[in-house]
Amino acid sequence: MFTVQNKTRAVKQVARVRSSAGVDTRQLKALCERLLRTQPQSGPLLKRLLARSCRAGRHSAFATIQNGRCAACNMTVATARIQKVKAGEFINCANCIRFLYYDPR
Ligand SMILES: [Zn+2]
Repeated sequence: MFTVQNKTRAVKQVARVRSSAGVDTRQLKALCERLLRTQPQSGPLLKRLLARSCRAGRHSAFATIQNGRCAACNMTVATARIQKVKAGEFINCANCIRFLYYDPR
């Protein structure tokens, strides 16, 4: 049965893509969509960051906030700005310009 073999191969390919790209591609897409929906004025900057992350070979347009710091460059984020992010807003890291978002996990 060819169909079963094809299906198995497709699943393996997806698994390989996921594990090699630090950020889940599906999650990246969801973040882009949410950003453009809530803050459409950020579109041009997002495009620039995505182009930059492609050249670097990794996703660097978004980063989470961990322990009050940007998870990508370790820059401290002001408490007032963290509150905005927790409320669902995207802000830009003052150092690396990535869009910061809150991930409760
Ligand atoms: Zn940063």
